[in-house]
Amino acid sequence: MFRMPVLFVGHGSPMNAIEDNDYTRSWKKITERIPKPKAIVSVSAHWYTRGTKIMDEENPRTIYDMYGFPQGLYEITYNAPGSPSLAERIRELISKETTFDNSWGIDHGTWSVLVHMYPKRDIPVFQVSIDAYAPIEVHYQIGQELKALREEGVLLFGTGNIVHNLRLVDWHQANKGFDWAYEFDDFIFQNIINRNHKNILNYKDLGDIAKLAVPTPDHFYPLIYILAATDEEDKVSVFNKSCELGSLTMTGYLWE
Ligand code: ZN
Repeated sequence: MFRMPVLFVGHGSPMNAIEDNDYTRSWKKITERIPKPKAIVSVSAHWYTRGTKIMDEENPRTIYDMYGFPQGLYEITYNAPGSPSLAERIRELISKETTFDNSWGIDHGTWSVLVHMYPKRDIPVFQVSIDAYAPIEVHYQIGQELKALREEGVLLFGTGNIVHNLRLVDWHQANKGFDWAYEFDDFIFQNIINRNHKNILNYKDLGDIAKLAVPTPDHFYPLIYILAATDEEDKVSVFNKSCELGSLTMTGYLWE
């Protein structure tokens, strides 16, 4: 059995789901480059909960957890099957207390990217939530515990944005970012390349820049899960390293 790569994607605007742009094209290219997964376990910024939840439905529904977008977006369904047996296995692997919960569904953090990567919807996919109350080390530990799934052909998929500050979005900066956005994104890049995960876990030490880039950690934490599932044997590549609207970065990483 091959060892499955792990992937973090900066998903950005839900509009990417129906657009054909540089971001969506590089997501497609990743699909061509990695083995076809047996299943996809997604940690999405948008399932941010009290406690860690796992979906274990046969057929998770698509949910539209965004407002005020064109009708076309609400007509997309990502009706891939789930995997109750893999959900069970994940519950065994995670040492922290978890619960099965099907009150959520496949959210736009997941489907806006997977419609490009796996449009056939033939690979089982479900989500594991992010416990908003757990410290960053706990998220890292869950990622380490899920690493074993790489040997089983499962794609661990994190979807968020490394820099994500909606309050400071500037519509006049289409493909540009504020200095602090580039600076924070570069800090993460350097520490990923040098495998200095401690610096990443201690990102708050950057002070004001970290507060601006990560005002709330929901979009940052998916990276932590994926990072934790990597090791020295992996070769890392970066894609979509760019800023949008001043205060978002689209940067993604593939470890293989
Ligand atoms: Zn998002």
